[in-house]
Amino acid sequence: MVYDVVVIGGGLAGLLAAITAAGRQAKVVVLTTGKGALSLSPGGIGLWAGKRAEAMTVGDDTGEGEGVSGTEVTAKGKTLEGTHGKPEAGGWWRNGVGVSPRHPYLLAGRESLRLGLQLFGRAMARYGNSYEPERTDDCLRSPGRIFALPTAIGGVSLNQLVPVSLAAGDLGREEDMLVAGLVGLADFYPRLLTENLQRLLRPPFGLRHVYLDLGLGRLAPLYLAAQLEKETSLRTKLWRELRKVVHPGERIGLPGILGRHGNATLIREWSAELGAPVFEIPLTSISLPGLRAWEGLVDVALKMGVDFRQGLTVTSAEIRGGICQFVETRTAEGTQRFYGRGFVLATGGLFGGGIWAGLAGDGQPYWRESIFGLPVALTAGAPDRSRGGLAGFNGLGLEVDDWLRPLLPGGEEVLAENLFAAGSLLGHYDPWKEGSGQGVAIATGYRAGALACGQRC
Ligand SMILES: Cc1cc2nc3c(=O)[nH]c(=O)nc-3n(C[C@H](O)[C@H](O)[C@H](O)COP(=O)(O)OP(=O)(O)OC[C@H]3O[C@@H](n4cnc5c(N)ncnc54)[C@H](O)[C@@H]3O)c2cc1C
Repeated sequence: MVYDVVVIGGGLAGLLAAITAAGRQAKVVVLTTGKGALSLSPGGIGLWAGKRAEAMTVGDDTGEGEGVSGTEVTAKGKTLEGTHGKPEAGGWWRNGVGVSPRHPYLLAGRESLRLGLQLFGRAMARYGNSYEPERTDDCLRSPGRIFALPTAIGGVSLNQLVPVSLAAGDLGREEDMLVAGLVGLADFYPRLLTENLQRLLRPPFGLRHVYLDLGLGRLAPLYLAAQLEKETSLRTKLWRELRKVVHPGERIGLPGILGRHGNATLIREWSAELGAPVFEIPLTSISLPGLRAWEGLVDVALKMGVDFRQGLTVTSAEIRGGICQFVETRTAEGTQRFYGRGFVLATGGLFGGGIWAGLAGDGQPYWRESIFGLPVALTAGAPDRSRGGLAGFNGLGLEVDDWLRPLLPGGEEVLAENLFAAGSLLGHYDPWKEGSGQGVAIATGYRAGALACGQRC
């Protein structure tokens, strides 16, 4: 099978690359083992957080410009300070990203981040799963805004772009908050959530919880979400129970099961019915907001003509004369070859399967990229041996050139002229510490997709 662009990996980076290339009229295939991290994540898009979350203002790729301090959650997690702050010299692009000249944001460039965010926002709106802010360019403005969203156990997740169904949960808002759990639904903990938030942030608004009993026994999240989307009678029953407990002026936080698919319309309906802002809080087990975002991207890619093959793992590739010719997948049915003019390697980091870890004969850990066997180095941060396992190894990643092409050992030559890497496989950043995982996947996915179809944007 011959394509213009072959994308390996169907997570956020791979899908953004595929949509970018398809938008340039390329014939694209995505080969992917699984769904990737976006489908498991809370669904918000974090561009930059760190200990002190700085809303972004980026002058240009050299890092000029000023930033603003945004919602601040201190290391000990004691303070929550509004979502808008005073301008601060530098901004995160210079103060944070600029720490490594090889940071993937800098390699991709600010314009790729801007255009990638636009593509993402448009794809989500098309799927009926709109994000806020609607104008994604606003994510790059000064003063910037950070949504500080509660997690199911009372932690805080910082994002610059969020599904509308989560937006009213922003802890920077002032309305009182009622968190309502459902008896029989596991993996959502209203009491723990409110207690932890209270202890952690001492928010300036009222915060309380209730449990509602719909008399349905044990509740399966995906089934319940589908039923709530389809069945007006079930929604009406829940609204009735909620009306009994909500106080005037409160916003209502519910488990993230209000509809199976894109649910921008649904959440508006809920808010109108209850006369209060309603928002979802993703469960710890299955995050529908993350899954909806992933499914939305796949849906849009399919509509753009992308050949999407889930369940296919690329095991090898042929590189001849410095050009990648094809990649191979192996299944019980046999081997398949996918030829392309350009290739995007977006197989993720340690979690995604793009990096394999092992122990050498002397007991020392080693890592390598999983398809081409490329060396992988700890290029950001340092392993945290006190926590054991793989803690602190998030800075592992590939070395690439200025065009995102993986480099051979020695760092002088590229593996192939037409192979571009994107997403959490890349080195020189720590997605967890920086809170930049999704932003980097979008910026580099966009750039790699454009480069793979021959456009050096
Ligand atoms: C549970 C979880 C939650 C997260 N939450 C956040 C968050 O809230 N905010 C944030 O900024 N970051 C978060 N991250 C970090 C996340 O890694 C990045 O944000 C980003 O989603 C990574 O996208 P990616 O496409 O690079 O990799 P991945 O999403 O890992 O996708 C890689 C894809 O490649 C496929 N693949 C791997 N090897 C092969 C192969 N040989 N052949 C074919 N396919 C292959 C995998 O099946 C997978 O689909 C989270 C990560 C995890 C694991």
